[in-house]
Amino acid sequence: MTGLVLLAPGLPDSLLTPLRASGLSLQTLDGAPALEQAEAASAYVVFGGSPASAALIDSLPNLKIIAVHGVGYDGVDVEHACSRGVVVTNTPDVLTEDVADLALALTLNTLRALPMVEHHLRSGRWAAGERAPLTRRASARRYGVLGLGRIGAAIARRLEPLGGSIAYHSRRPVAGAPYAYYDSARSLAEAVDVLIIATPGGPTTDRLVDAEVLAALGPDGVLINIARGGVVDEGALIAALTENRLFGAGLDVFAHEPRVPQALLDHPRCVLTPHVGSATVETRAAMAGLVVENLLAVLSGQPAITPVV
Ligand code: NAP
Repeated sequence: MTGLVLLAPGLPDSLLTPLRASGLSLQTLDGAPALEQAEAASAYVVFGGSPASAALIDSLPNLKIIAVHGVGYDGVDVEHACSRGVVVTNTPDVLTEDVADLALALTLNTLRALPMVEHHLRSGRWAAGERAPLTRRASARRYGVLGLGRIGAAIARRLEPLGGSIAYHSRRPVAGAPYAYYDSARSLAEAVDVLIIATPGGPTTDRLVDAEVLAALGPDGVLINIARGGVVDEGALIAALTENRLFGAGLDVFAHEPRVPQALLDHPRCVLTPHVGSATVETRAAMAGLVVENLLAVLSGQPAITPVV
């Protein structure tokens, strides 16, 4: 097996450690590749969502694989990679349960406004005799999942014990799914109290949740997003929250990460996490293992373990 494995900058230690132990020859790609580096590169490792453009792919003439550390590969020009015979791999399934856990945690935290009521206690207002504001119940609510794929279905399974109703929208109905199907994001939003986004990011879902969908969710509605920040029109979300046209939002992803708009940071009924859906020791180890397996397979002429197409 020959060739250089280029690494996107900033990959986590949980991935770098097994990569270093794999015996592969590694180099971080900082800016455009130097001529020698470009000639030698047979693999490129990136985060889910980080860019691998057609121009970059074209600048690496011996590239065989782009290995994405994550399930979402919206930053990669997959069509161009395929046309150049470059395999794109991701890390599906191994992170599904963790991301669904976070979605459930955000849902419960947002409905019960835990940061707000905890602040009420910590700031001494409870001790001073002031009652905490009322929040919203989580049981027996109408839940909607936007994107009933691997993660969406795992979220729906976690919602079942809450005893409410569950509905969903994907571009087509999922055979055998025991939930009501709606044929648009807007009609789903109209029918539910809590809308949970679990679609991929990228151009096909860009601002799928816009001002109209948020208006359909209504002033008692809650939005949860563990997918990609770009799926939501962030400006419309901020306007809806600050004008009390939405009860609250639980967000793990943002339009321009790691920047989070001040209006969201300041909002008492926003629960915010720094894109940590898959960030547990166990899942990050499984994701890293899959990245290394895909690299070793493709670089030794074997089929990829988890190609995206
Ligand atoms: P998946 O199995 O491919 O599920 C995606 C679902 O979205 C499918 O049901 C798909 O159904 C639906 N969908 C796609 N395009 C749509 C559109 N335009 N409108 C409505 N529905 C659409 O993927 P997954 O493994 O569940 O992962 C989902 C996403 O979660 C990833 O792509 C990633 O962006 C995000 N994620 C976030 C984190 C985090 O840390 N927060 C971690 C992992 C993943 P149809 O094709 O039938 O429409």
